[in-house]
Amino acid sequence: MGVVKKICCIGAGYVGGPTCAVIAHQCPDIKVTIVDLSQARINAWNSNNLPIYEPGLDEIVFGARGKNLFFSTDVEGAILEADLIFVSVNTPTKKSGMGAGMAADLAYVESATRKIAEVAKSSKIVVEKSTVPCRTAESMRTILDANSHDHIRFDLLSNPEFLAEGTAISDLLNPDRVLIGALQTPEGLKAQQALAEVYSHWVPRDRVITTNLWSSELSKLAANALLAQRISSINALSAICEATGADVDEVAYAVGKDTRIGPKFLKASVGFGGSCFQKDILNLTYLAESLNLPEVAAYWHQVVIMNEYQKKRFVKRIITKLFNTITNKKIAVFGFAFKKDTGDTRESAAITLIKDFIDEHAHVRLYDPKVEESQIWIDLSDVSGADAAKKHVTLFPDPYSAAEDADAVVIVTEWDEFRDTKLDYQRIYDSMKKPACIFDGRLILDANKLRKIGFKVDVIGKNELA
Ligand code: NAD
Repeated sequence: MGVVKKICCIGAGYVGGPTCAVIAHQCPDIKVTIVDLSQARINAWNSNNLPIYEPGLDEIVFGARGKNLFFSTDVEGAILEADLIFVSVNTPTKKSGMGAGMAADLAYVESATRKIAEVAKSSKIVVEKSTVPCRTAESMRTILDANSHDHIRFDLLSNPEFLAEGTAISDLLNPDRVLIGALQTPEGLKAQQALAEVYSHWVPRDRVITTNLWSSELSKLAANALLAQRISSINALSAICEATGADVDEVAYAVGKDTRIGPKFLKASVGFGGSCFQKDILNLTYLAESLNLPEVAAYWHQVVIMNEYQKKRFVKRIITKLFNTITNKKIAVFGFAFKKDTGDTRESAAITLIKDFIDEHAHVRLYDPKVEESQIWIDLSDVSGADAAKKHVTLFPDPYSAAEDADAVVIVTEWDEFRDTKLDYQRIYDSMKKPACIFDGRLILDANKLRKIGFKVDVIGKNELA
């Protein structure tokens, strides 16, 4: 395989869309077609209202769309003409498992792979972009070889995506690294080189890491496991801080100054969310179990257990501070997205928290600047049932109306607009029931400033008596 001229990306989601839009933007000579089974999603990609919110995404898409970037439901047409195909479909967690781990459901990967084999009439490089268990490429290769037309070569690569939602475009334009795994055969290495050349249009050569296929597949799971582990570690420390008078921000700063530890990803919070961390750790746990490594499985599973505990602990703390009951109390929840600068709600801590508030018969007054209302009702109906969700939750168009007459404000997502430098907390305080409580689950507020206004302030990892 020589120079890549036409790329097809199967899956126009949070990864496929931005990743391949950036490739089109940076490589004007390569035709990039992003395909999906969902007509609605493709219509949105072809409209002025893109299906996902990411800072900088509009400019990238609107700049290249119709020139060398196309969105389509014609999966077969795009496969036929491409010389390189990214498989960027969803790999959700299976609903049931034998042990603590949960396997990734590879049904979408399998069906996309079967489609490539069935349709392709010339040789292709097939690239795993989805996060998959170690050795998935082997299964894909077997499916491709068993189902393809004669004399067609498929070279399989692993090129996991490390972007973070909310900063996807800057992560893609300026990645810490691009990882490309290949079989260590002459053909595999040639395919690896061809994909490396695509990235060389904008990524410095020393940031392109080439490995064997299995290292690349496992590195993606390992990266997410280690990131989530840091969050669970600082959250575990936050519980000790609250009980002792240590301040988790001060502890994080002090330990992060050690260059062996480093300062990043040491922010205590209500817990991690998003579609990846939990899924990938459960996947790693499952992998360890299936390799008969129970201690390794238990080690990684603890990261997820800690994350669930952190959410429960926060809810318990809120109830305790609100005189041991939140029945019929009004709780203003600020934020529903799993993190700032995204409209994505998958595995958001807000879903778990609000479910618990509903179970305790509170009235939730919810505001989020970006999440679609329809998505909020889907998520809450899934966990609490549609009737209970509608009965106990009201959506508001701004934080001020959400906080009116509320007993408490709970910061769940770290949107910049919730900071005390942006919101008028005096106005919020004046409109609330007294005592007015505020619970900061993201450590974004200046507690002393709010206490001066009159709020009772409770912050994860801090003890107000300290
Ligand atoms: P997503 O659900 O947003 O998008 C997947 C898309 O694939 C959907 O639109 C779906 O309709 C489409 N699809 C499924 N099967 C198809 C088929 N056979 N043909 C055409 N289209 C098909 O998922 P996502 O968030 O983009 O994640 C994709 C993969 O990337 C997952 O494996 C995920 O773990 C991984 N990943 C996600 C992130 C993230 O931040 N979301 C980051 C890195 C890696």
